[in-house]
Amino acid sequence: MEKVKEEFNFDLLILGGGPAGLSAGIYGARGELSTAIVDISMLGGQPTNYLEIENYPSYAMSGGYELMEKFEEHADKFNVKKFPMEEVLSVKLKGDDKIIETESKIFKSKAIILCTGAKARKLGIPGEKEFAGRGVSYCAVCDGAFFKNKVICVVGGGNSAIEEALYLTKFASKVYIIHRRDELRADKIIQQRAFKNPQIEFVYNSVPLEIVGDNMVTSIIIKDVKTDKVSEIKTNGVFPYIGFAANAELYTDEIEKDKNGFIITNEKMETSIKGVYAAGDLRNTPLRQVITAASDGAIAATYAIKYIEEIK
Ligand code: NAP
Repeated sequence: MEKVKEEFNFDLLILGGGPAGLSAGIYGARGELSTAIVDISMLGGQPTNYLEIENYPSYAMSGGYELMEKFEEHADKFNVKKFPMEEVLSVKLKGDDKIIETESKIFKSKAIILCTGAKARKLGIPGEKEFAGRGVSYCAVCDGAFFKNKVICVVGGGNSAIEEALYLTKFASKVYIIHRRDELRADKIIQQRAFKNPQIEFVYNSVPLEIVGDNMVTSIIIKDVKTDKVSEIKTNGVFPYIGFAANAELYTDEIEKDKNGFIITNEKMETSIKGVYAAGDLRNTPLRQVITAASDGAIAATYAIKYIEEIK
């Protein structure tokens, strides 16, 4: 016999409990909506993996985990209901009732804010999948300590690549940064720190072709995009930091996305579907930071409150 799922009804459902979701929760609950956050893992989102965040105003330096703990405590203060560790199986966005279904629960609401963020993009080269967890990692904070006195290659030239490369110099004897151009995308202040670090060596105008190893990674094959010269760097680890892709697979074609798969919103965080909002890294935003995600969440919840008042 099929198990009967437990049913919950809220005014506002928030899918994803990172900075955008927690901020939306605070604004929604403070606006007197019954508000719940559903997340596939513990709340806090991507910043919980960041060792340090130094550009969130009022915290000159904070651990990512500690900062998100503060967000969560704040949401608790306004009695936001939390449903962590719930894998969402389906989402129905069209119609008056928004419905989220998990293995054991059905959640219904009048409005929904999608805050499921983004995930690390893959290089898509041979060896990447095979050596994942055996030298290939997407999380320096989680895995850096395994590379004590070893050689590491970081791929990418954005803030993530340079910051994580700097972090990895705490463990590794040498960190190569392989970048496809000869100019970095990272903020100048972060670039300067890397240029000053004697353990970091830049490999410009180069793209990775293959990650090689036996049981563990032993080298990476790269190609110089200007000369087409192929060469090999002996390395114990490869950390690709080449940007993020939206966690938007659940939302199918019914919602409008841009060519990269990020959800399109207007300035009120409204999506192409009535009563459905998107906030944070998941949407087509020019800046993906804790502060912009939190701001998106606040805007989305504010307009969700107005929407619910209007349909009442
Ligand atoms: P990003 O800014 O999009 O940078 C991605 C980097 O990877 C770029 O340098 C890009 O090269 C390179 N790249 C992209 N696809 C590639 C491929 N297939 N092969 C090789 N290289 C490739 O991504 P991010 O660094 O993860 O940052 C994402 C967002 O988070 C940004 O808005 C960033 O500012 C923010 N962030 C902020 C902080 C902070 O402020 N503390 C920390 C981390 C991230 P090109 O430059 O040639 O395009």
